[in-house]
Amino acid sequence: MANELHQRMSKEMSDKTLFDSAQKFAYDYADNSRDRNVFPTAQALEALKEFDESMPELMGGGEEVMEMLHRLGSPATVSQIAGRYYGLVNGGVIPAALAAKWLVDFWDQNCPLFLSSPIASKLEEVVESWLKDLLGLPARCVAGFVSGSSMAIFCGLAAGRYRLFENQGWDINKKGYQDAPKIRIIASRQAHGTVTKAVALLGFGSDNVEWVDADEQGRIDEAKIPELCSSTLLILQAANVNSGAFDNFELICAKARQAGSWVHVDGAFGLWAAGSEKLKYLTQGAELANSWSLDAHKTLNAPYDSGIVMCDDKDALINALQASGSYIVYGENRDGMLYTPEMSRRARSVELWATLKYLGKMGVDELVTGLHFRAQQAANELQAVGFQILNDVCFNQILIAADDEEQTLKVMESVQNEGVCWVGGSKWKDKSVIRFSVCSWATTAEDISMSVRSFDNARRQILGNK
Ligand SMILES: *Cc1c(COP(=O)(O)O)cnc(C)c1O
Repeated sequence: MANELHQRMSKEMSDKTLFDSAQKFAYDYADNSRDRNVFPTAQALEALKEFDESMPELMGGGEEVMEMLHRLGSPATVSQIAGRYYGLVNGGVIPAALAAKWLVDFWDQNCPLFLSSPIASKLEEVVESWLKDLLGLPARCVAGFVSGSSMAIFCGLAAGRYRLFENQGWDINKKGYQDAPKIRIIASRQAHGTVTKAVALLGFGSDNVEWVDADEQGRIDEAKIPELCSSTLLILQAANVNSGAFDNFELICAKARQAGSWVHVDGAFGLWAAGSEKLKYLTQGAELANSWSLDAHKTLNAPYDSGIVMCDDKDALINALQASGSYIVYGENRDGMLYTPEMSRRARSVELWATLKYLGKMGVDELVTGLHFRAQQAANELQAVGFQILNDVCFNQILIAADDEEQTLKVMESVQNEGVCWVGGSKWKDKSVIRFSVCSWATTAEDISMSVRSFDNARRQILGNK
C-alpha cells in the first residue's frame, strides 16, 4: 500500500500532468473572472453540497481532486482578481507575485531558521530593509513576517508590554501578571476589532483599556487622550477601517515620546500611504512610534497571508515572542522565527520580495495613489446620481448612504445580488451605511463607473417601486 502511494506520487511529481491541469484550470478561471458575478450565484453555493461526503476509504486520484475543485470550487469563490470587489479591504494579487508564489510552492520551504531556508532568510533581510526605506521608519527597526495584521498587532503590543514591564524591573515572561506593576492601555473607540482581540489575548482585559472617543472623521480625538506616562501603551491607527482617516501621529507621537510611552500604529492598509508622494502626508509622524503592523496583502496587493510587524526595539520584540529570557544569541544569519510567535512558516518573504522588486518605489506610488483616485472617482460619481458620501475621501475608503437607512440597506442588497460588484455594510455614527473600499490594482475607471451604474439602477428601482 505504502509502496503504491509512493509510486503514484513520484509519477505525479515527475510527469507533471497534474500541474498542467492545475495550470489549465487556473487560466480558465482567470479568463472568465471578469464576466461572472462577483459573489457566487445561488446555484454555485448549492452545488457545494457535493463536498458533503464522508472521508474516502480509498485513495483518490490527483486529476479527480483537481477536477472537483475547479468544477465546484472555482464558481464558489468571491471574484477577487476582476477588480470589482469592494467589501473587505482585501487587495488584489500582482501577477509577478502570483508567479513567484507558484515557484515558491515547488520550493516547499519551511522558514523558522536560516538553516531551514537560506533564500527565505535572505529575502526577509532584504524586505526588512526595503520596507524601512519605503515607509520612512528608523534604521534600527526589525521586521517579523506573520500571517496578517491580527498577528502583527499582537506582536507589536507584546513587544510594548515586555518593554514597559521591563522598564519597571518586571520580567513579564517569567512572572506574569500576579503582583505585577500596572500598565495602562489607551486606544480609540474606533480601533479595529483585532486590537481588542490582541489586548484580550495578552491578558490585559478589554475593560481595562482607556477608550478614547474619535472625531467626526474617525480619528482619535487627541484632546481627549488622557495624560500619558512611562507605563502607557498607546494604540494609534493609520487609516480607520471605515473612513480611511489617519490619526494625528505627529502631535500624539511627540507627546508620547516625551512621556516615555510605547506607541503602536495599526497601519494594516493605511501605512502604505507612505509610499505615495501625494498621500504620504497622511502618515507624517508615524515614524516616531515604537511598533507598527501592516498587511502586504492589502494595499500593496501581495498574495494573502502576509502581515508584517515592524519594531524599533529588537530586544523587546524578540524577548516578547521567544519568552525565553534575554540570553538569546543572535547568529550571523537571520533566523526568522525570532521575530514571530510561530516556528514553522511559509516562505512569505519571497512573494513579498517579488512584489516590491516588481513594483519598485515608482510602482508602489502609482498603485497606492491610483487606489485613491479611483475612490475619489467613485465618490464623485455616486454623489452625482444622488448618494451621500459621509466621509472625506482622503484615502481609499468611501462611506455611502442613500435617502434613509432602509433604502441604504436595500440598495446594498440589490447591488450584491446584481453581481456587477460587491460592497459590504458597516455602521457609521450608529447608522447603517455601505462601505466601499478600493484596494485592488485591477480596478479600472470603467469598473468604477459600471459599479456606480449598479448603485444607480438599484436606487431607481427602489424609488420606482414605492
Ligand atoms: C484588516 C485589518 C486588520 C486585521 O488584519 P488581518 O490581516 O485580517 O488579520 C487590523 N486592522 C486594520 C485597520 C485592518 O484593516
